Amino acid sequence: MCLSICPVKAISGGPGRLHVINLDYCVGCGACARVCTNSSVIDHMGNRSSHESKRNWMIPHFDESRCRFCGKCYEMCPAGIITRPLSGKVPELTNAKLCASCRWCEKVCVFDAVSFSPASGDGAV
Ligand code: SF4
Ligand code: SF4
Repeated sequence: MCLSICPVKAISGGPGRLHVINLDYCVGCGACARVCTNSSVIDHMGNRSSHESKRNWMIPHFDESRCRFCGKCYEMCPAGIITRPLSGKVPELTNAKLCASCRWCEKVCVFDAVSFSPASGDGAV
């Protein structure tokens, strides 16, 4: 599961083999840790991960009244799942199941047009 959720494909390995994270690519979103049902991911501080149901993962919502259609969130999303905003049309998620909850889209928006709330439960694990 971590292999498929990682937005930058930083994880190598396969069934029955140790999975390894390439820190040159990792963006630190923590999605691999949250998706792992065996709590097998250990962070750089030596802490073991906890599985978190996908129902509780936070996903972004785009505020039409604040968005200025600058496109920064579209450019920054490592998962590539935000549509390019057009004048008068706010961005949308093309596939919420692939959102890693990295919150880069929220951090990069200088107009505070991005907020996060729990996903609906689609694709919950
Ligand atoms: S923390 Fe995020 S970017 Fe880094 S390996 Fe895990 S899923 Fe991939
Ligand atoms: S939190 Fe935002 S930038 Fe990160 S993967 Fe989800 S939509 Fe993309």
